Amino acid sequence: MWSALQGRVNNRLARHFRAAPHRLPVHVPMVSFTFDDAPDSAAGEGAELLEQHGGRGTYYLAGSLIDRPSDHWHGLSNDAIVRLHRVGHEIACHTFSHQSSATLGEAAMAREIERNRSHFRGIDASITLENFAYPYGIASVWRKPQLAKAFRSARGILPGVNSGVIDLQFLRASPLVDCEIDKAGIDRYFDEAVASGGWLILYGHDVTTRPSPYGCTPHLMRHALEAAGKRNMPIVTVAEALRRIGA
Ligand SMILES: [Zn+2]
Repeated sequence: MWSALQGRVNNRLARHFRAAPHRLPVHVPMVSFTFDDAPDSAAGEGAELLEQHGGRGTYYLAGSLIDRPSDHWHGLSNDAIVRLHRVGHEIACHTFSHQSSATLGEAAMAREIERNRSHFRGIDASITLENFAYPYGIASVWRKPQLAKAFRSARGILPGVNSGVIDLQFLRASPLVDCEIDKAGIDRYFDEAVASGGWLILYGHDVTTRPSPYGCTPHLMRHALEAAGKRNMPIVTVAEALRRIGA
């Protein structure tokens, strides 16, 4: 309970302080599909669906979870990581241990980042982790400036479209999670992205017919991909989106 409260306080502080403001170009509606941790189904069926729709995704990975079973899924394999990387998906960074940034001091966070970087360099020397996602979506006002020096962006799970002046070190992301959203909810985010000329980031975990409380069905994911197609919104990695907005 105390740690949930601590997380909320940290998120509120991090949302309002130490921003890395960046004004979006006038009209750049686009979408990024992101997967955290990541389950083997996100690298399998999830990546397949993205590729069928001409898109690429961003996978925020924690070295300690690779190729390991957990409560809800099996972590993707080294081979899957290499394949994702080779076909143009983005391999991005969580903390190595998946500990929340709110519980890590500066030195511990520096070790987490370095350990994760060297872990993925060891799998493929050309993998560089340019972007970060806060484990559990919990940001830290103390770690935020440290992460800003190490990464081009940091993503939370505060829902909504990134539009107008955005905070590169606390990017908004909306759930691609069956327990939290339905097709109409997905459509509303896409409509908002078109209306505001903004950047929609979706986050999820597993992609399977019986998903965990944190994942989605292929059906919902296909709906989101088609929603992008209908609105002519490019489906790009976070790294590519940052390039397009001149960040
Ligand atoms: Zn995670």
